[in-house]
Amino acid sequence: MAFEGLASRLQNVFGKLKSRGKLTEDDVNEALREVRLALLEADVNFKVVKDFIARIKERAIGQEVMKSFTPGMVVVDIVNKELTALMGGTQAKLARSNRPPTIILMAGLQGAGKTTSTGKLAKYLQKQNHKPLMVAADIYRPAAIKQLQVLGEQLKVPVYAPGADVNPVDIATQGIAHAKEHGHDYVLIDTAGRLHIDEALMEELTKIKEAVQPDEILFVVDAMTGQEAVNVADSFHKQLGLTGVIITKLDNDTRGGAAISVKAVTGCPIKFAATGEKMDALEPFHPERMASRILGMGDVLTLIEKAQANIDADKAKEMERKLRKAEFTFDDFLEQMEQVKKMGPLDQILDMMPGMGKMKDQMKNVKIDEKQMARTAAIVKSMTKEERAKPELLSPTRRKRIAVGSGNTVVEVNRFIKQFEDMRKMMKQFSGMMGNGKKKGGMF
Ligand code: GDP
Repeated sequence: MAFEGLASRLQNVFGKLKSRGKLTEDDVNEALREVRLALLEADVNFKVVKDFIARIKERAIGQEVMKSFTPGMVVVDIVNKELTALMGGTQAKLARSNRPPTIILMAGLQGAGKTTSTGKLAKYLQKQNHKPLMVAADIYRPAAIKQLQVLGEQLKVPVYAPGADVNPVDIATQGIAHAKEHGHDYVLIDTAGRLHIDEALMEELTKIKEAVQPDEILFVVDAMTGQEAVNVADSFHKQLGLTGVIITKLDNDTRGGAAISVKAVTGCPIKFAATGEKMDALEPFHPERMASRILGMGDVLTLIEKAQANIDADKAKEMERKLRKAEFTFDDFLEQMEQVKKMGPLDQILDMMPGMGKMKDQMKNVKIDEKQMARTAAIVKSMTKEERAKPELLSPTRRKRIAVGSGNTVVEVNRFIKQFEDMRKMMKQFSGMMGNGKKKGGMF
């Protein structure tokens, strides 16, 4: 997951800081030195780090902080606010023209995820009851037009694609005329990407820009490429005047540098973050939520939004009641997994929960992927109704039978039952923390 290294290092630094009753200037300096190193290692731009640390130092070494009863908490709060400000402060929303269609030009280097993001953005707009049109203006990569058409079919979003013989500027202008004719309120133009920035690419983009006067020029960057992504975005911005950035592949093990520095270096806000290859893996970028995730404070707001969009409220209530009372059964486990699966990959969901940094250690045994879920389902289905409700009925003989019945080994069956029990314990603990409305040990 993105930011894992950075998040755990920062959480360590702040954990130490918060456990102290009083802080000296040296304590703060020492902590900030570690923050600085962590950010540099996460590939955040050197100058950005320097300014960031200076700003925090200025605020943290003030009298009020030192005099506070919980100086460590105050420092963390300052870091949180500064990190949020660094990434743009508040959410930068997608433009919406009052003379539709809103025209969005998608730019980026090849492989950054431009075409995929065009599809995701179309899906995002469609979900909000807009009527997007995708325009295939990347005529150089032969597969690009086809790729967009396949996405369009899958999403049921029309694609305007007159073919590779038509000039991209004409494709774009004709695409807009087509959108007007057919009542589309958003037009997403997928433009050519190259392996490197080159003059021909810039010239073509400039021509398209002049011809269609877009409301947005979104630059798609691959978070995995770190500072390089930021440099490329900066060059594009200088020549083209970007209005926003889509940062992709945040689901991969990125160090986070690009997401943290792109706004500070280019002045362009990140508008969306992509967290997977699937078409629904695109989220509006909220700087305050991202800062919160990086600092291990979770992202409860995004979690709630995902839950509201995907989870059956009555079922969720019932599940919560069971969790609190420790009545959670194997059947519930399966049901819960099905529900959670709808929200996205489990490790991403866990990252949004407050205090998960520490909790994740306990969760190590509970790694669940889709293939494993099918095998797990088979184990549960081989149990009797009574056993599903009462794990203590699962004697060694029964476990052997279940293993045979579900096509697993006894070791696997035992491991799953142990995992289930661990999970039940963990969830009880977690619901206790949520239910009390208080934060207990280990949480920020
Ligand atoms: P383009 O050349 O910029 O149009 O790039 P594509 O849209 O074809 O994407 C290049 C590759 O990156 C494809 O294999 C995509 O599936 C993958 N990709 C795009 N966005 C993401 C993302 O957010 N996460 C992951 N893991 N892969 C992505």
